[in-house]
Amino acid sequence: MSQLDSIARLLEIKDSNINFFKVEDLRTVRSGVVYHFKVIHARLSYQLFRCPHCGFPSLIKNGTTLTKLRLTTLNGPMILLYLRKQRYFCKSCQTTYGAKTPIVEKNHSLTRGLKSAVFKLAKQSLPVTTIAKIVGISASSVERILYHDFQRPQRLAKLPEHLCFDEFKSVAKLYSFIALNAKSHNLISILDDRLSKNICAYFENRYSLNERLKVKSVVIDLNANYQIFIKRLFPNAQIVIDRFHIIQLVNRAFDQLRVTTLKQLNDKHSRIYKALKINWRLFHKDAEKVDDSKTQYFRGLNEYMTQQNLIDLGLSASPKLKYAYEVATKFKKQLKSMMKKSSA
Ligand SMILES: [Zn+2]
Repeated sequence: MSQLDSIARLLEIKDSNINFFKVEDLRTVRSGVVYHFKVIHARLSYQLFRCPHCGFPSLIKNGTTLTKLRLTTLNGPMILLYLRKQRYFCKSCQTTYGAKTPIVEKNHSLTRGLKSAVFKLAKQSLPVTTIAKIVGISASSVERILYHDFQRPQRLAKLPEHLCFDEFKSVAKLYSFIALNAKSHNLISILDDRLSKNICAYFENRYSLNERLKVKSVVIDLNANYQIFIKRLFPNAQIVIDRFHIIQLVNRAFDQLRVTTLKQLNDKHSRIYKALKINWRLFHKDAEKVDDSKTQYFRGLNEYMTQQNLIDLGLSASPKLKYAYEVATKFKKQLKSMMKKSSA
């Protein structure tokens, strides 16, 4: 086996009709940035006797065309395959053909190997931009590969009784709307924006009022906009506020007070200041999970103490803060025990 054939095996080019004849380094400068490529020159040719169009054995070879293909990288520079494809001409029906290879789809420049590399990386939940950097193609190409055949279902056969609405940041930092089955967490739909009128139109155009009347509950976060149209769309549904959002809200309110207290402290090097500022996560912890027996080293303070000691030290900054902490932890405990009862 020649050296070039070994390269082909390394790059998983499994087409015996491709013959490699040269590898060279290429360097281009685009808007001030230097790009390095490895270019593999190869030829694709095979014997074709009968015309696929008319069936007569009247084919002759008719020159080659050059196609530039992208291969997967081996953690180094981008690898291009300059493939000279054989062309054929039929003397009886006057049609011309190009030689075909399974490594790439017709009229595509990204090889199947590269596309499967993108899918493998996407399965590890890597962001599109990271995949693009690893594979060495643009982010929009990665998106095209991933979502090329993706079609959103027009509607579900049966609308679930319990829905869950949320939003998430998608492309270009815009928000998208997502609807799930609240019990199975199966996807109902993703909409490109979270505008009330588009969400209403989506459900009204696809599900009859009779179907929508059967929806018993909709779980949402504290977005007021949703509450207004949920009553209109699903008249019999109860609106359930997601408990995680409530806990988040309580923690945020406590943090606001904590930051105000920090600003009021004159000595920015005091132990109280450091306890409140550096170890803020401890103040969000459930009261029963706070350790009050084992001492540990707190880096910001450079001291050994228990978690409970640290919380007490921080809360000694102001009675108002201490009271807020007690109310917040009690509230969170109550909420969690309610949720446990309702799910039991
Ligand atoms: Zn023909």
